[in-house]
Amino acid sequence: MRQNRYDAIVLGAGAAGMMCAMTAGARGKRVLLVDHADAPGKKILISGGGRCNFTNIHTAADRYISGNPHFAKSALGRYSPQDFIALVDRHGIAWHEKTLGQLFCDGSARQIVEMLVGECTAAGVTLLLGHPVAAIDHGDGLFRVTIDGREWGAPALVLATGGPSIPKLGATGFAYDAARRFGLSIVQPRPALVPLTLGPEEALFHSLSGVSTEVELRWNKVRFREAALFTHRGLSGPAILQISSYWQHRTEIAVDFLPDATPDWLLTQKRERPRMALRRALAADLPERLAEALLEKLDMQGELGNLPDKALRAAQARLADWRFTPTGTEGFAKAEVTAGGISVAGLSSRSMMADHLPGLYAIGEAMDVTGWLGGYNFQWAWASGWAAGQAIAEGG
Ligand SMILES: Cc1cc2nc3c(=O)[nH]c(=O)nc-3n(C[C@H](O)[C@H](O)[C@H](O)COP(=O)(O)OP(=O)(O)OC[C@H]3O[C@@H](n4cnc5c(N)ncnc54)[C@H](O)[C@@H]3O)c2cc1C
Repeated sequence: MRQNRYDAIVLGAGAAGMMCAMTAGARGKRVLLVDHADAPGKKILISGGGRCNFTNIHTAADRYISGNPHFAKSALGRYSPQDFIALVDRHGIAWHEKTLGQLFCDGSARQIVEMLVGECTAAGVTLLLGHPVAAIDHGDGLFRVTIDGREWGAPALVLATGGPSIPKLGATGFAYDAARRFGLSIVQPRPALVPLTLGPEEALFHSLSGVSTEVELRWNKVRFREAALFTHRGLSGPAILQISSYWQHRTEIAVDFLPDATPDWLLTQKRERPRMALRRALAADLPERLAEALLEKLDMQGELGNLPDKALRAAQARLADWRFTPTGTEGFAKAEVTAGGISVAGLSSRSMMADHLPGLYAIGEAMDVTGWLGGYNFQWAWASGWAAGQAIAEGG
């Protein structure tokens, strides 16, 4: 029985679980890292289009959605993007900034997985892959995990099995069931960073499938200025994915199709180029197919000089504040992350340990901390995994 005893059992060999295991292991703790998949870090492999957007240099707590907006501050402050960059540099992995502070591997996401697995191996972590967890239990200060007919015990158990987004990659709601079982509460999980769907009344927009344009999206006080992409089911692209994490069902989203235009832009165009068709004026700033579709919706056409100022002003105001109500999202099957999850109310923001049950930790996407698109979710996985790994090593 003794050989089945560890200092910590980490469930989930994804981004957060590997960071936690290697951190605790490097400080001399005996760690068992378990995953039901046959290989670790499958989401890392497909992330960032295969190049893994592993962090964002603009990381700050206000770029995360959580029941407690202050919760992420401590861990993000103690393990920063610079710390992860230093790790990546030590492994000689070349990287570049793509846009908006997003750092990607020059080569492949596989390098990040190999780096983490290498660090786990160097730290003496035992990796147990390919078997489902049959049971978990707690008593006498010990967590017991049954896998493949064998029981493993440790005074620390880390829930790092992520959220249910992209189930075909082995994602499950396991962390929520385990958390509930040990008395932690769950904030209703919902798909986030996910395409939005449009109803049949938006048929005109469905015909724009494949068209992309830079917009400013607004929902309540939240704004994102990035590209939006029309799809055959609705809308996608970075701006849409970002707003989807905040959007609530049956509410409107406002689009500014002309985020760079001055308020009297169309009137100026009319004065300077009265013979120009309205369609051509719009197509100077928007993809032609989109300009046509918007004008069809506005029911306007003709030369600028023949259109009343009032109508042009109204058209521009509408283009800057175009309202639509999505019918829903494309769901967990297409969601890059899951918002909601294990409530942070019962966890320490320093160590990620449950207040009421010493030795129980939750990290990564399983928790109610969801980052913006652009490397923020991995940075949370690293920071929360490091915080828990450090606390385990300190005996916290
Ligand atoms: C297509 C895609 C692209 C993405 N690109 C980026 C990006 O470029 N940058 C970024 O910051 N974020 C990106 N993300 C989000 C990022 O992948 C996640 O936020 C991050 O992986 C969360 O880390 P985690 O360790 O908490 O969970 P995961 O990485 O999901 O790891 C959880 C692990 O737990 C295992 N597991 C699940 N259930 C069980 C169970 N019952 N028993 C045992 N093991 C179990 C899984 O097999 C998995 O290995 C992307 C996500 C997707 C889907």
